[in-house]
Amino acid sequence: MAGTELIRSFDPWRSRLCTCPPKYSFDPYTGCAHKCIYCYASSYIRDFFNCRVKKNLIERVRRDLSKLPRGILISMSNSSDPYPPTESNLRLTRTCLELFKKHGVRLLIITKSDIVIRDIDLIKEMDAAVTMTVTTLNEELARKLEPDAPKPSRRIDALKILAETRINVGLRLDPIIPYINDEDFHEIIREARYIGVKHLVSSTFKPRRDSWKRILEVFPEIREKLEELYMKNGVKIGRSMYMPRDFRFRLMKKVAVECRRYGIPFATCREGFRKLHTSLTCDGSHLIKITR
Ligand code: SF4
Repeated sequence: MAGTELIRSFDPWRSRLCTCPPKYSFDPYTGCAHKCIYCYASSYIRDFFNCRVKKNLIERVRRDLSKLPRGILISMSNSSDPYPPTESNLRLTRTCLELFKKHGVRLLIITKSDIVIRDIDLIKEMDAAVTMTVTTLNEELARKLEPDAPKPSRRIDALKILAETRINVGLRLDPIIPYINDEDFHEIIREARYIGVKHLVSSTFKPRRDSWKRILEVFPEIREKLEELYMKNGVKIGRSMYMPRDFRFRLMKKVAVECRRYGIPFATCREGFRKLHTSLTCDGSHLIKITR
């Protein structure tokens, strides 16, 4: 039936700023338990922070795959985390990995959870790579930004284990929010180099109505400065607010320069700054090893 596919063509609102290669997008869960206050997916998914299982998930994934060619690129997940706490018991994402493996899917896993290491045995036999999101190494700040996500130290440890298992890993330093975590990239990048991260993608915070409200509630002391950047001098692109282009460029350039210093290929996400890119793809899909 049309419109019921779970594996869908990735089309982030046809944004002219998206530089992703053609790919499919898949979210095993609806909503997300991590409750990141900057999350944009909460603006278009009802009851977002209530993470729930999709009806007939496995049956629908099987059906979708039967209609798709082998070797497709799937990005999992763009509007949730494929490893919420409940996945430890339900193992639904793991079952999807098994199906993907049989179908020769090229898989890009995007997560903030160390539960991913449970599936190393499968991932290392697949055409797959893992990107982990880390926005700060400061645990107190992380608790404010990503209250129910695994601590940054657990994500870093998971990245180390994945890299030691020779799985290609990337890091999403996303989003960078001025006056909040805009100095944290130095130590994150140092850590990334030490781990052996092969790709780093970053972007600036692009609030929508609800994420803007949450940020101001948690960080009222910087309200004026943020209002000046986003509401007074910023610009609306699609449904998101962007800071002025030159401000965003300077911020992304600082991150790019630091990555160059440590030899880590760099890209930005939905910023329009291709000239800063030194990595082969923005999303890290080039990290997927072809094992066939
Ligand atoms: S992990 Fe991603 S999808 Fe989940 S709440 Fe955080 S930003 Fe949103």
